[in-house]
Amino acid sequence: MPIRLSILGSTGSIGRSALDVVRHYPGMFEVVALGAFSNTDLLAEQLREFRPPHVAVADEAAAARLDLSGLNTRLWRGSNGLEEIAAMSVDVALCAVVGAAGLKPVLRAIEAGNRIALANKEPLVMAGPLIMETARRRRVDVLPVDSEHNAVFQCLQGHSRDDVHRIHLTASGGPFYGKPCEARRNVTPEEAANHPTWDMGKKISVDSATLMNKGLEVIEAMWLFGMPLDKIGVIIHPQSIVHSMVEFTDGSILAQMGPTDMKFPILFALTWPERVREPMGRLDLTQVEKLTFAKPDFSEFPCLHLALKSARKGGTAPTVLNAANEVAVQAFCRKRIPFLEIPALVEHVLASSPIENEVSLESVLAADGCARERAERYIEARFQTV
Ligand code: NAD
Ligand code: MG
Repeated sequence: MPIRLSILGSTGSIGRSALDVVRHYPGMFEVVALGAFSNTDLLAEQLREFRPPHVAVADEAAAARLDLSGLNTRLWRGSNGLEEIAAMSVDVALCAVVGAAGLKPVLRAIEAGNRIALANKEPLVMAGPLIMETARRRRVDVLPVDSEHNAVFQCLQGHSRDDVHRIHLTASGGPFYGKPCEARRNVTPEEAANHPTWDMGKKISVDSATLMNKGLEVIEAMWLFGMPLDKIGVIIHPQSIVHSMVEFTDGSILAQMGPTDMKFPILFALTWPERVREPMGRLDLTQVEKLTFAKPDFSEFPCLHLALKSARKGGTAPTVLNAANEVAVQAFCRKRIPFLEIPALVEHVLASSPIENEVSLESVLAADGCARERAERYIEARFQTV
């Protein structure tokens, strides 16, 4: 029987890689639903190739443009449409939307009892306790796609969480690590998105350049693996071959290695607990010149500290951090603010926003909305002319 899949965010970097995986293993998967925001040209191509019975287009105007001629595909419009397809019964729902827009679809997919392959890290940052509690209640597995968390998940197989001493998330450092702060002053969105080892969507590429991504990943790991903040460390590993490590109480460290290609963690999350027999490629370790690890010096990367600060505060603080960062990254990509203003804006919003202790859908949505408004006001007050 094929594995029945829905892919939320099918036109993005992760969504396209997931469809490459489907293409690579004919007969192994059946695509039940695809969803995206507005790239209807690519979506139309995907529909013609994979013939899913359902498609969701979150942007209403784009939905009207989608050419469904000759297809037996039902169209679901708007953000509600994305939630509707998330709730359709499948073997695995791959959540690969970027940002907070994925929160409600992720929750709907879990409520519907669908196993989750989770790439979309922002919902976990915003509402980790809510998502994991909903998953526990519905007995749903949340399988990490993010390469570091996928690695940790693999290293934990067959081990008790009680035996874990520490999780080591690896970080390449992004394009600016080790370079002087001056080098980042006039960075363009294109330069920031030019990651040394991974090819990814725009938002996560900018997050990798500020190292906010690593901060979001620490919070993501806390919730996925039920670990306190002080048991999660970050280690610099520029080659991105060791995707992360788990250190056990007896001193043993397990590491997961693999090609630097998101198709591998995606495949693992889609097929777990099985492993496929024919790989999409293999890593030849003799071709890897060296693997190096270094203690990080993050003094030049305030975003990571802000993320950890929000995690320590708890409640809706990470929600506020995430919302401010989303606004800041979008403003940077639209050339409204300079690169080095991203942390300044996040810091301002985090320091001036009310924080609720309780993490419910209501408190999270309220904190998210309020933080976005504050961030927008900050930009308008300072950068009208940029
Ligand atoms: P992307 O920008 O390439 O794609 C995002 C997808 O989400 C697109 O299909 C887009 O149509 C859809 N989308 C955006 N806004 C939407 C909205 N409001 N409603 C509905 N759909 C919407 O992003 P990506 O790089 O593929 O990343 C997706 C998620 O996976 C992010 O949370 C990212 O942090 C995470 N992730 C990505 C990578 C990677 O290599 N790209 C690695 C690890 C984790
Ligand atoms: Mg990652």
